[in-house]
Amino acid sequence: MKKILLTALLLLSALFLFAAEMRILCTTLPMTIFTGAVTRGVPNVQVSQMLASAIGCPHDYALTPQDMRKLAQANVIVVNGLGMERFLDGVIARVNPKAVLIDSSRGVKGVLETCGEHDHDPHGHAGHVHLKNEHLFAGPATAAGVVESIAGQLAAKDPANASRYRANAREYADKLRAIARDYAALAATIPPSGRRIAVQHGIFDYLAAATGLQVLNYLQAHTGTEPSAPQIRKFIRELKEQKAALILAEKNYPDRITRLISKESGVPVLTLAVYPENDALNPEGYLNVFKNNLKALKAFYKK
Ligand SMILES: [Zn+2]
Repeated sequence: MKKILLTALLLLSALFLFAAEMRILCTTLPMTIFTGAVTRGVPNVQVSQMLASAIGCPHDYALTPQDMRKLAQANVIVVNGLGMERFLDGVIARVNPKAVLIDSSRGVKGVLETCGEHDHDPHGHAGHVHLKNEHLFAGPATAAGVVESIAGQLAAKDPANASRYRANAREYADKLRAIARDYAALAATIPPSGRRIAVQHGIFDYLAAATGLQVLNYLQAHTGTEPSAPQIRKFIRELKEQKAALILAEKNYPDRITRLISKESGVPVLTLAVYPENDALNPEGYLNVFKNNLKALKAFYKK
């Protein structure tokens, strides 16, 4: 009897250990939202986020001891990829070599290149460089690709729940692709002169592409630093030369400078959101950000 009890207890604890096994750590808010959507209803999966949502893009981030602890405890780590997480270079192999690393950009179609001067020139020379734009999450079609990429890699790691991951991903990606079609419908109505735009930051490249807009100029490669006075003057001069129709700026970012630029250049500025404001982890909220931005763009082009 004692032996049976002991066996049962061992079995139970083994089950419990197995059950508590999937600890998925996501680097950024979009990764957490997408992984949350993909793992919805899958038992014994715990999704957490490594960086504070307020950080936005962690282009210039440095790891803290607390981050290291989170990394050490995860068994799956989901990253944006394409160079967004330079702060992780070589770290996972040292801190948690057993963790499965999911690069959410893997296999995603439609990756754009950002041309021009860049803060993070991997070759160490200044001037014209081509870098892959890492903000796949900020365009509806590429976001759908990211969601499916996460699901495919999770399915490989956890085959027992593979069909669930894939079905969840398909459902969410279908919604994102429906939104992408709505953007394409707007794009078809915008005249060529209206397509020439400038952006505050490379984060809007994918949204611009979805809307058929051509990004001619960037105020900054990233939002980490404030542009210098000469940078601002150059941007204003170029906006006029390029006859830009619009500047896209990011909400939750000081708009003092973009307002000044808009005033000086005569080019209107449209401020769009990148992340949901309330209930940030709700996958539906992220869809609403795309829908609200589409509304704002439609209203702008109706004028
Ligand atoms: Zn960024």
